[in-house]
Amino acid sequence: MIRTMDFVERKAYAKINLGLDVLRRRMDGYHEVKMIMQTVDIWDRLTFTACEEPGIELSVGNAALPVGKDNLIYRAAELITKEKNIKQGVRITLEKNIPVAAGMAGGSTDAAAVFHGFNELFDLFMSLEEMKKLGVKIGADVPYCIMGGTALSEGIGEILTPLPAPPACVLLVAKPDTDVSTKFVYENLHADKLESHPDIDGMIEAIETGDLRGITGRMENVLETVTIREYPVIEKIKELMKMEGAESALMSGSGPTVFGIFTEREAAQRAADQIRRQELAQQVFVTRFYNAG
Ligand code: ATP
Repeated sequence: MIRTMDFVERKAYAKINLGLDVLRRRMDGYHEVKMIMQTVDIWDRLTFTACEEPGIELSVGNAALPVGKDNLIYRAAELITKEKNIKQGVRITLEKNIPVAAGMAGGSTDAAAVFHGFNELFDLFMSLEEMKKLGVKIGADVPYCIMGGTALSEGIGEILTPLPAPPACVLLVAKPDTDVSTKFVYENLHADKLESHPDIDGMIEAIETGDLRGITGRMENVLETVTIREYPVIEKIKELMKMEGAESALMSGSGPTVFGIFTEREAAQRAADQIRRQELAQQVFVTRFYNAG
């Protein structure tokens, strides 16, 4: 975090889901989930500059993203300005690196960065709890993104239990060249007809005991049943990663991003090269988990 009098810079980290289960569809249309969230070392950079004239001005560089109320950054800034009665205006810039519409919570993590950024810039002294409570008004994944790290996420995503960091490993992330709408995937999921559910409790135990194989052996995401049917390339990337030595590979969130967990960097790099060469994905990252502190 860089801070001068009226300027704050902040990184917004992407997430993957090591496990994702959907328990049921609620009467209000939301789905009750049980997921293991993990922050990864892929980030957007946001800057915040306070100015005397009121109003929110957002620039997104070359990213094909809206700059008004359709951007979660704008929505978060507007919400905090109103809630905290901020009289000054703010100029926000976004450097987008996280794949968009990818299942990596790119929009939610940007919104989360706005909470932290405003907190610093305007000396708001909001607690983590207060930010999370406000954040859920922007989106179900925003409270987790405000907290970051490794966590169990329940309810619609707002009930969070922090977990210890999993053992270090090499992470390969590949986003096929297709955008997936989270709404479409959830609407086409038949939560009551799922044949198999991930062993999330077993994964929590494996995380707590630092058992990487126990984690990778339980990686499962029920949303794959919808997204892979639409985009078979996801299955192809998973197979390729496993062939090249991944302990396991899985789709993240509602997809289409696929991640593989490797114990050797060379193997992950080889898989990355293959994915690019076969044009299965353009955006490919050899990276790692990110647990601050
Ligand atoms: P999730 O994992 O939470 O489902 P996602 O990675 O699938 O998220 P996002 O990248 O968050 O999806 O974006 C989905 C849509 O939200 C995009 O089509 C985009 O137009 C809109 N959006 C609004 N604000 C942002 C933002 N700051 N960054 C990215 N997308 C944004």
